[in-house]
Amino acid sequence: MNRAHLRRAARKIREGELQNYIHHWPEVPVDAPMERGKVYHYVFHHDPWCTVYDGGGECNCDVEITKHAEPKRS
Ligand SMILES: [Zn+2]
Repeated sequence: MNRAHLRRAARKIREGELQNYIHHWPEVPVDAPMERGKVYHYVFHHDPWCTVYDGGGECNCDVEITKHAEPKRS
């Protein structure tokens, strides 16, 4: 494995962890009005074969978008 491979692998792990984290937050309707002071995250679920993963490729799948509200930070 060269450096680029290692960097990509590390990024994949970080993104995976963030995704797992976000998925535990309550999902809200994508078009629901947002409350001031709350933090929302949009998650784009691409199909595994989507060209968006080919590096700078455009999305050519039927992407599913979910919206999650971050719990209040203490
Ligand atoms: Zn896609």
